[in-house]
Amino acid sequence: MSNINDDNSSIIDGKKTSQKIREWVRLEIEKLRKSYNFIPGLAVILVGNDPASEIYVKNKEKQSLEVGMNSWKYKLSAESSAQDVIDQIHKLNKDDSVDGILVQLPLPEHSSSLERRIISEINPNKDVDGLHVVNAGKLVSGDTGLFPATPSGCLILLKEYFPNLSGKKALIVGRSNLVGKPIASMLLNENCTVTMSHSKTENLISECKQADIIIAAIGIPEFIKAEWIKKDSIIIDVGINRIEESNSSKQKIVGDVDFEEAIKFCKAITPVPGGVGPMTIACLLLNTLKASCIRRNLEPPKFDFTS
Ligand code: NAD
Repeated sequence: MSNINDDNSSIIDGKKTSQKIREWVRLEIEKLRKSYNFIPGLAVILVGNDPASEIYVKNKEKQSLEVGMNSWKYKLSAESSAQDVIDQIHKLNKDDSVDGILVQLPLPEHSSSLERRIISEINPNKDVDGLHVVNAGKLVSGDTGLFPATPSGCLILLKEYFPNLSGKKALIVGRSNLVGKPIASMLLNENCTVTMSHSKTENLISECKQADIIIAAIGIPEFIKAEWIKKDSIIIDVGINRIEESNSSKQKIVGDVDFEEAIKFCKAITPVPGGVGPMTIACLLLNTLKASCIRRNLEPPKFDFTS
């Protein structure tokens, strides 16, 4: 188990943990292949030519193949209708070799109601992004299911470094279906006292000052300042923001928290890059492995992040 006090470090290393997860997934897939003669498979639907989405999908493909998983990409043109995407989903729902289906978001015609309609066509047992209402409902009710990868990654990192979260005051900044809402449910299920905040929250600074744990999922570069945070708090920074480097035309990636200053006060913090980011694909692979076992009535292996 990684422990802050053991190695005196206050940086939560998502790169290291994600590598551990991927290696574990690789070994579990090898066992499944030998014992049951199947390999889990992930199918990704990419609509249009958004460069960032192309990179994400390529990374998903690469990492799936590296752990020995089957990987398929279905590229649809930007002009595809919702029905075209749904038809592709229906084919993958019926395909027995496909364990996980993921529609890369955002779609070219960005509309949350359209995205919801499309996601609702995925068989919930293959919904490895955990965005189907059935899985969202299971998470809220404390049932088992497939839950979104990024918040799952946040929780694994938190629990790896702080195994007992019970009773801690957790503040979630951002209420998206992808990150904010699911991590709130996950932390409630861990017996945290959870506060949700968002763009209409009044007095966010005072909320931050009371929090033992802050999950920042906002999308505004270095929005949360060091003066806002309680001494010895734990900060999980989900943000990925591209900004110009000062005195140069180069770009760099920063999170939603002012990392350089916050690290001086907090107990532990995830860096950006190298914190939550690498955990997302690792948790997607975990979900696909889990889905492949559940569909075949096998007990899914459990990743023990404390070992
Ligand atoms: P989103 O745009 O769907 O939601 C942003 C949330 O921030 C909203 O709920 C909004 O109310 C809140 N917000 C905006 N301004 C605010 C303010 N002034 N005060 C308080 N809250 C405010 O974004 P998302 O999809 O949840 O993503 C958030 C960030 O996380 C982005 O930077 C995104 O790139 C990043 N992200 C990273 C990963 C990863 O793999 N690490 C995955 C998903 C998202």
